[in-house]
Amino acid sequence: MKIIKHYLNGQDYDGGDRTSDIFNPATGEVISKVQLGNKKVVNETIDISLKALENWTKTTPAKRASIMFNYKKLLEDNANTIAELVSKEHGKTIEDAKGSLQRGLEVVEYACGIPNLLKGEFSSQVGTGIDTFSMKQPLGICVGITPFNFPVMIPLWMFPLATACGNAFILKPSERDPSSTLKLVELYEKAGAPKGLVNVINGDKEVVDALIENKNISSISFVGSSKVASYIYQKSASYNKRVQALGSAKNHMVVMPDADVEQASDALIGAAFGSAGERCMAISVAVAVGNVADDLIKSITPKINQIKVGPYNDKNSEMGPVVSKQALDRIKSLISSGVDDGADLLIDGRDIKLQGYESGYFIGPCLFDNVKTNMSIYKEEIFGPVLSIVRADNYDQALKLVKENPYGNGCSIFTRDGDTARDFSNEANIGMIGVNIPIPVPVAYYSFGGWKNSIFGGHNAYGMEAIRFYTKVKTVTSKWPQGIRQGAEFKMPTLG
Ligand code: NAD
Repeated sequence: MKIIKHYLNGQDYDGGDRTSDIFNPATGEVISKVQLGNKKVVNETIDISLKALENWTKTTPAKRASIMFNYKKLLEDNANTIAELVSKEHGKTIEDAKGSLQRGLEVVEYACGIPNLLKGEFSSQVGTGIDTFSMKQPLGICVGITPFNFPVMIPLWMFPLATACGNAFILKPSERDPSSTLKLVELYEKAGAPKGLVNVINGDKEVVDALIENKNISSISFVGSSKVASYIYQKSASYNKRVQALGSAKNHMVVMPDADVEQASDALIGAAFGSAGERCMAISVAVAVGNVADDLIKSITPKINQIKVGPYNDKNSEMGPVVSKQALDRIKSLISSGVDDGADLLIDGRDIKLQGYESGYFIGPCLFDNVKTNMSIYKEEIFGPVLSIVRADNYDQALKLVKENPYGNGCSIFTRDGDTARDFSNEANIGMIGVNIPIPVPVAYYSFGGWKNSIFGGHNAYGMEAIRFYTKVKTVTSKWPQGIRQGAEFKMPTLG
């Protein structure tokens, strides 16, 4: 059986006594094992990173940009291979995996403009004969800890921008699907990044703790569940690290009575069931306002029933399995709790059977109506293909639901009324808002981040926010001796 190792200094690296199984979620088979690193591996990686950093900080931003241009091309050329690696270990369809790579590629394109992004500020004559300028300088060694659901897109939010800013980077991908992440780093080196600039350590909490505790690490970028995000934030802060930690979500889509119901139900299908609901920007709650709920259910039901569930390598498949047996069991148990709590399970995908894939982690799409805010299916992030409809009498009630939810990653409103949309955009205490857009993931030259329990730390991912996160500002105030312009003197210099 293949053992996936760490990737240090441009080659596989053997380290750590423990391994974790990697599954094909469509069949439930163990397809490989991944080594779990430890403090020793972390210490050796730090030495490699420090060495790589010595030369890298001296490279010009233009040189780094030229590597980034090569990298963009290589990612495009290898899109099929990368998508296959994602799908095999994650379970999502190939098309979905390609889409996520594309969103990561946009960040690489943004990083191609690094000479412009690193420009500083200059003020002439802040005092008589005094000028002030500021520059953005790299932090040193930055760390990224990434979740299973986007093993390519989320690492691409991090290391291209961090290294373009002049830092070295250590990636700790999810232990559930590391292969595509490893491929990304291999390709970065092929594009011209020096070996050892980006290293990958596989592992779990043991490696994460060792990285945070290491004095040579300057910053921690984390994306994953809120429970772990909060832990990472607190621990990193106690070790005086710069930290950004993006967490879980419970995204609502408000459907107003004046919305185009067909358009709203089409949008919900993709947003709730795409990638089997394992997206931090998935819509898991539809808030149906006024009398729109019945029409919405009428419109969405046949569309849900047509969703083709299947393995990633079936070309007709629109929704793959969930990532693990534990995830499947947790989702099913939340569905049972919804039924016990009195919500109406209109579509029940729990008993789906796929010939030849009986041991896979498949669950069909599920639809609940009359979900109430005190139910676990409303309160918990399900992270599976389960859509809950909550009925609200009016707009104010719908907005209140959004505002009172402890998570604040994304939300959207479907309406034809500009005034309502504008009020919602201003009032919702959520980081990313869509108006007639179900999954409002911002383009790479904006930035990605939620509010409330969906983020810990002051910086969003990518965009200018990331440039600020991965650099320190240095401000120089300077004055030059005056009088040089009086010209040369030929007589013997005398004091005074
Ligand atoms: P997770 O929190 O279990 O794991 C994320 C990373 O943290 C992994 O690399 C894992 O190895 C590591 N980790 C896990 N437990 C740890 C611990 N106790 N101490 C230190 N490190 C630990 O998340 P996941 O299951 O991989 O991903 C799904 C979650 O991520 C969902 O909650 C989803 O909403 C969230 N997510 C958020 C965003 C966002 O941008 N806000 C994006 C994607 C996923």
